[in-house]
Amino acid sequence: ILKEMEDTILLYPSPGRGHLVSMVELAKRILTHHPSFSVTIIISEAPYETGSTAPYIAAVSSTTPSITFYHLPTVSLPTKNTSFSIMDIHTLSFEWHTINNPNYHQALISISRSANIKAVIMDFFCNYSFDVSTSLGILTYYYITGGLTAFTAFLYFPTLHKSLTRNFKDLDEVINIPGMPPILAKNMPAPMLDRSKTIYQYFLETALQMPKSAGIVVNSIETLEERALKAILNGDCTPGEPAPAIYCLGPLVATEGSVEGGTKHECLTWLDSQPSRSVVFLSFGSLGKFSAEQLKEMAIGLEKSGVRFLWVVRAPPPVESVAATTEPSLESLLPEGFLERNRDRGLVLKGWAPQVEVLSHDSVGGFITHCGWNSMLESMRAGVPMLGWALYAEQNIYQLAMEELKVGLALRKREDGSSLTTNSSSCPSFTMKLNAQVTVKNTKFGHFKFQNSTATFTHGGTSVGEATIVKARAQARSTTKPNVT
Ligand code: UDP
Repeated sequence: ILKEMEDTILLYPSPGRGHLVSMVELAKRILTHHPSFSVTIIISEAPYETGSTAPYIAAVSSTTPSITFYHLPTVSLPTKNTSFSIMDIHTLSFEWHTINNPNYHQALISISRSANIKAVIMDFFCNYSFDVSTSLGILTYYYITGGLTAFTAFLYFPTLHKSLTRNFKDLDEVINIPGMPPILAKNMPAPMLDRSKTIYQYFLETALQMPKSAGIVVNSIETLEERALKAILNGDCTPGEPAPAIYCLGPLVATEGSVEGGTKHECLTWLDSQPSRSVVFLSFGSLGKFSAEQLKEMAIGLEKSGVRFLWVVRAPPPVESVAATTEPSLESLLPEGFLERNRDRGLVLKGWAPQVEVLSHDSVGGFITHCGWNSMLESMRAGVPMLGWALYAEQNIYQLAMEELKVGLALRKREDGSSLTTNSSSCPSFTMKLNAQVTVKNTKFGHFKFQNSTATFTHGGTSVGEATIVKARAQARSTTKPNVT
């Protein structure tokens, strides 16, 4: 007797931890809508440092048995280099999936022997694996871990490429893109700045291919990024081509306790002893790093501000080709005596924090973030005002969106691209006065209930503005879902 084969949806994330967490949340959302399905997540080991994902995968496997992880065999990179810039990582992310294509193909064949593959949803960095699944007749969707606003710039990229002859990096103009605020050409996402770079070509090819897929699943909510959605659906971002099919399934945000499982992190115990809404949290995504000099300046700024803080610090990127032999200690990265002097009001963590839990903790009143979309959604959900310090990828765009949505303020950059430095000689400081005025109200943001709170940010003794935060304790449901049946 033949056993009826189970229906499964395959998810193929890019190795970065932020991408994996977001895909797992997508898997949970799919299972909510299609409880009879299973979800298989195909994992390739990251070829660069992105923090261990093994404990996280183990926690998900034990709490959600309908999610299966399929590990591709380990392959090695053609290069022995292990210290990559963010741009290298983006380039490598595309190439990594090409290298993995034979194993990925094998995985699809093997999974299809025991399950009915209804669709593949793959990260946009997997663009060069598109043909692997479509050639097997599998319905293939893309997944954008970011939101719609930056996606308009991405979709419009081929049009800009055709109409301009110079590199964005050499232009002093403001670029108008349908669906998003005007942006300085130089602030476009780094991979789009220079035509001579390989990553530029990869982005261009991906932007042209994505609208031809079965659809694009986005971690957003129609009502949060209404303008961007309208522009895409009107075809304004893809002139001369049909508008792509868009499915807003967000907000896909990990819930407290779902990220690591297990024991309570020391920083949460520390937060328990701090006053309500008094702590500023500083964390810069899965890849954000600062120079040694900038780290010290930030430390001086934090110390002078008198504000309580919880700060995730990473070692600076290696200088030139000097490979670090040992991981530097926190003491060596921060000004002498800093940890000891600030012991009562600050905690510094090396490398990683349980961010979702931290942002949801009552003692946290402000978030200094690199404007990664997941970080922004997590902060909005927890009702924490943000100070945006865009570092890489499409974060300049989200920094603009952050101000438009009135959920945070953007730091103004200095000429050399650095921000928030104390410039030791004059030593101005920055402060965040956090003040929660909580009123619940319904807004146009549909499924959300908002609470308002305000934060005043001061830099160098001068107020740089006041941010109103919308507190979105999400009861969020998606209103559109992929027509996978
Ligand atoms: N994250 C975390 N702890 C950290 C740094 C990041 O848990 O110390 C998580 C964060 O909660 C978010 C993801 O990693 O879910 C980062 O995604 P985001 O889109 O903000 O930035 P990216 O890493 O893609 O630049």
